[in-house]
Amino acid sequence: MLRQVAEGVLIHESEFCQSNAVVVQGRAGVLLIDPGVQGDEMACLANDLSDSGQTVVAGFSTHPHWDHLLWHARLGAVPRYGTARCASSVRGFLSDPRWKDRIAEWIPPDIVEQVPLDLLGLVTGLPAETARIPWDGPQVRIAEHQAHAPGHAALLIEERGVLVAGDMLSDVLIPMLDLNDTADPIENYLAALRLLEGVAGDVDVLAPGHGSIGGADQVRARIDQDRAYVHALRDAGVPSDPRIGPSATYGKDWLPGVHERQLQRLAQRNERDGTSG
Ligand SMILES: [Zn+2]
Repeated sequence: MLRQVAEGVLIHESEFCQSNAVVVQGRAGVLLIDPGVQGDEMACLANDLSDSGQTVVAGFSTHPHWDHLLWHARLGAVPRYGTARCASSVRGFLSDPRWKDRIAEWIPPDIVEQVPLDLLGLVTGLPAETARIPWDGPQVRIAEHQAHAPGHAALLIEERGVLVAGDMLSDVLIPMLDLNDTADPIENYLAALRLLEGVAGDVDVLAPGHGSIGGADQVRARIDQDRAYVHALRDAGVPSDPRIGPSATYGKDWLPGVHERQLQRLAQRNERDGTSG
């Protein structure tokens, strides 16, 4: 079920939350970014790759959230990378002997049995300021920012005009701020959008971690949409965002709740910090 979105760049979509795994073809094999969620889907991806004579030579996790940190034995024991901050965040929660139980609380009950946790998070942190993923293939530029999770990385495959956005710039999910690890989550998110805006001109294909693949026009449109949402959140206004409005096609039963919780958490932070916004 691999779908080509640019020369040498393919997508494998998971059932859970419209997650996109990204395959980048290199000289000796492929780089696999955010491999997927359920065990049988990752096994199917491994089959599709081996059927077409390709092996995985490296992996990358865009950020330290469970659905981006998984791996399957069939994909092989290869170096798996993340940013240094991503890796250190993962080490933090793997050091808790009860980490599997804690992670399982985040996974929807209907799929928790299908999510293989054994190889979760075994990523090597690339030293801070590393510009590119070390592998034998098209150059993959790391655009690290602090927005959705510690050490979140968007990846720009310049020669192919592809931006792999991690959990930014989704057409189905609203921006979800990192309200735990950052002093100013609103400003950090806006800064991240500016960073992505800075590379947007070179992008023909946008691959978000969740949602639909977009063309060049979608990069700007989604940056604008996300910025409008974050501004509304900052101003405690009511966002006119289609992703949580009556016409939403995805997550109607839970995304409005995510929005409400973000509003509440930000209000609590403002009260605690003695600022009025
Ligand atoms: Zn995430």
